[in-house]
Amino acid sequence: MAIQRTFSIIKPDATKRNLTGAVVAKLEEAGLRVVASKRIHMTKDQAEGFYAVHKERPFFGELVEFMISEPVVVQVLEGEDAVAKNREVMGATNPEEADAGTIRKEYALSIGENSVHGSDSLENAEIEINFFFKPEEIVG
Ligand code: ADP
Ligand code: MG
Repeated sequence: MAIQRTFSIIKPDATKRNLTGAVVAKLEEAGLRVVASKRIHMTKDQAEGFYAVHKERPFFGELVEFMISEPVVVQVLEGEDAVAKNREVMGATNPEEADAGTIRKEYALSIGENSVHGSDSLENAEIEINFFFKPEEIVG
């Protein structure tokens, strides 16, 4: 294992319900450190670009509209095995299938409005971090 960086989003359903602190607490309890963070209101272009990999999926339009519906918090997380650790503390995409104690089990509303995004590989983490952050915005 090694120290890695991964990319995280606190999604609109969570920011709307004032759960940003609750989500960050879960991430920190899991041993992840927030080394960059900003609250933004994503543009449609940003949301479509970020989720381009899903553009053929039936829920793409719904996903983009959701992601631009309220502010989000984009973050870089750092820690031992951070990519997998973040996915673990997030829980399964569908909150009904998520393990007890995970962010999605505790806070997500549905498979679409599921409170958090997390990179699924080290390669995608780097791409996603670069999509939203300049190197000087990441402050270890
Ligand atoms: P994850 O976020 O767990 O990596 P995916 O990459 O498969 O999941 O999907 C990206 C996002 O698209 C999900 O987090 C969720 O917000 C949305 N999504 C996935 N599947 C569905 C679905 N069946 N219906 C509506 N939205 C979905
Ligand atoms: Mg994914």
